[in-house]
Amino acid sequence: MEELLDPALGQVRVFLMHDDNKQRKLKYNLGHRRLLTFGGAYSHHIRAVARAGRRHGIETIGVIRGEEHLPLNPTLACAAACGMTLTYLDRASYRLKHTPEVHARLRERWGDVEILPEGGSNAAAVRGCAELPPEIGVDYDVVCCPVGTGGTLAGIAAGLPPGRRALGFAVLKGAGFLTGEVARLQREAYGRTWDNWSVNLDYHFGGYARSTPALDRFAAEHGVEGIYVAKMLYGVLDLARQGAFAPGTRVVAVVTGQPSTFVAACGAPTGFDSGEPR
Ligand SMILES: *Cc1c(COP(=O)(O)O)cnc(C)c1O
Repeated sequence: MEELLDPALGQVRVFLMHDDNKQRKLKYNLGHRRLLTFGGAYSHHIRAVARAGRRHGIETIGVIRGEEHLPLNPTLACAAACGMTLTYLDRASYRLKHTPEVHARLRERWGDVEILPEGGSNAAAVRGCAELPPEIGVDYDVVCCPVGTGGTLAGIAAGLPPGRRALGFAVLKGAGFLTGEVARLQREAYGRTWDNWSVNLDYHFGGYARSTPALDRFAAEHGVEGIYVAKMLYGVLDLARQGAFAPGTRVVAVVTGQPSTFVAACGAPTGFDSGEPR
């Protein structure tokens, strides 16, 4: 596993584990004939569902926030090329996308569909992500990951061996709700919660898909592709600098998202697929 080297780390060691968390989140959601899900026009989740649908012979429907813009941007073009049916929901209805009323309307139109929440975080997604810790190939004390909707962190924490901890970095501003959400997801998946994790809210850099010159500089210096991962690594280094980790702590930072080469294989223009503007 690649190691992050920076003088600010002192005696803290940080190992980088590349992992496609969206893939894990979908693994146990694929037993259906037809999947419907939600996302913004640049949603990484939408594209991951479309690609999984093509691979597994599942019909997919993507409900996109806002209006259709033609030509389709690369994310949606890729989703369409994978066979996803795209449909659009005005912003007001989109805000109600988790309600029974909107689900009923969608079922009326699309028939018997399994509805996945935006970002794909549900009980099955949590169970998929719980399979990550056993695959970590180094000794470690803490696993860090970026947090969008919380499913990845919920699963990683559930899958940790005793004595290890998970630390998530919220990429969204004002994400205090995430603590309740991660616990809810664990309960939904396993009927219990764990107390081996926490969410740090201090490194959102202005919110979803936002950045600052300092974060851009940091990403360039460390060769980090993807804004979610940049925020997490900035947070890890900053906390290390502040002495938040005991000397000798071994951290595994999960570099979420897919390598550019894999994204390119989908037929869409290249670019690292890990910023997900809302
Ligand atoms: C979706 C995503 C996350 C966050 O996952 P959640 O389960 O929604 O918290 C982190 N990193 C990347 C690159 C993502 O695309």
